[in-house]
Amino acid sequence: MVSVLPTEEGNVAVVVRVRPQNQQEREGSRHAVVQVIGDSMLVFDPEEPRLSGVFTGFRGHDAPKRKGKDLKFVFDQVFGESATQEEVFQHTTKEILDGVLNGYNCSVFAYGATGAGKTYTMLGSEKSPGIMYLTMVELYKRIEARKEEKSCEVLISYQEVYNEQIHDLLEPKGPLAIREDPEKGVVVQGLSFHQPKSAEQLLEMLASGNRNRTQHPTDANATSSRSHAVFQAIREPLVRAELVLLYSSSPLCQVPLPPNQLQVPCPIFVKQQDRVVGITQDLQVAKMSLIDLAGSERASTTNTKGERLREGANINRSLLALINVINALADAKSRKSHIPYRDSKLTRLLKDSLGGNCRTIMIAAISPSALAYEDTYNTLKYANRAK
Ligand code: ADP
Ligand code: MG
Repeated sequence: MVSVLPTEEGNVAVVVRVRPQNQQEREGSRHAVVQVIGDSMLVFDPEEPRLSGVFTGFRGHDAPKRKGKDLKFVFDQVFGESATQEEVFQHTTKEILDGVLNGYNCSVFAYGATGAGKTYTMLGSEKSPGIMYLTMVELYKRIEARKEEKSCEVLISYQEVYNEQIHDLLEPKGPLAIREDPEKGVVVQGLSFHQPKSAEQLLEMLASGNRNRTQHPTDANATSSRSHAVFQAIREPLVRAELVLLYSSSPLCQVPLPPNQLQVPCPIFVKQQDRVVGITQDLQVAKMSLIDLAGSERASTTNTKGERLREGANINRSLLALINVINALADAKSRKSHIPYRDSKLTRLLKDSLGGNCRTIMIAAISPSALAYEDTYNTLKYANRAK
């Protein structure tokens, strides 16, 4: 498999994960419209839905070009339906974890329509935990391996952005305000931070946090998530004396507090201190953000009114703002341009985790079924734009 590590600072790696067809899709016995070829290519069949009679028709420029028989897409990596959670983690997030330990902020997004496999990829199930869990296990492992030179612990936070408002998912409260501090960066006021004592406890926290997400029955799926869930992590020194010094000198925290009551202003960070060099050395602080985005499907205009319509508009707005920021950052490498972080809560929240020295991975989740044809095509187009 090829490496998806963004080659230059600020680059975005884009991968696609195709989930297996579910029972309903298999029973429909239609051909899959997506075929994975090798490690980095997939073929989308623009003819299939018309043949199977489910194609509802694209309008205007939305229609896939039908020049050839198929549409080929190339990404940094394409995972087929047999890819395991471990494989997806190994070839995406694991590769940028070193960046986090070296002081770079990193973020991993799961993008796609409701039912495409975003939550499965990021959170997973008890039997096959996803990227959030595997990341923490790997982070603990690497911290343990380096404990002779650098000692630290990890703090986590989990929050959602729903209808342009931020809520804490681990200690349900909100809406919480975002503040930008010249020294601390993006600060979510009142967000809780936690230190899971074991892998099991971490899984429990993630699962209960997920239950606190805003969910509404929609046309697409009764448990679809209409919010963006943002999981973040921070590393703290283990030694008490160092802790106090660290807090008093750290831009993140002015007052020394017991570890489980830390009022750290940002969600998931890695802080580290070089033991051999001594305490006067600059702290390296890095944040790891793992984001399960809200479903990207377009709200159907006929069945959508009031609250649902506003919700859909806010989701579209933040997903559009996200891609605009990613594109503006890519442009900014060649010429100075305005980065539109302020266009949505999500991009404001992640301002210090996108661009600059940050490493970003976008995981586009799709279903291979003809039933999800239009969503799959839109997701592939979005992912293609992020490249
Ligand atoms: P989303 O979060 O994008 O709405 P989910 O992650 O909830 O979608 O996935 C929808 C359903 O498909 C769930 O029942 C999930 O367990 C299943 N699923 C998704 N991806 C996979 C996969 N790679 N392997 C097996 N089951 C999957
Ligand atoms: Mg979901």
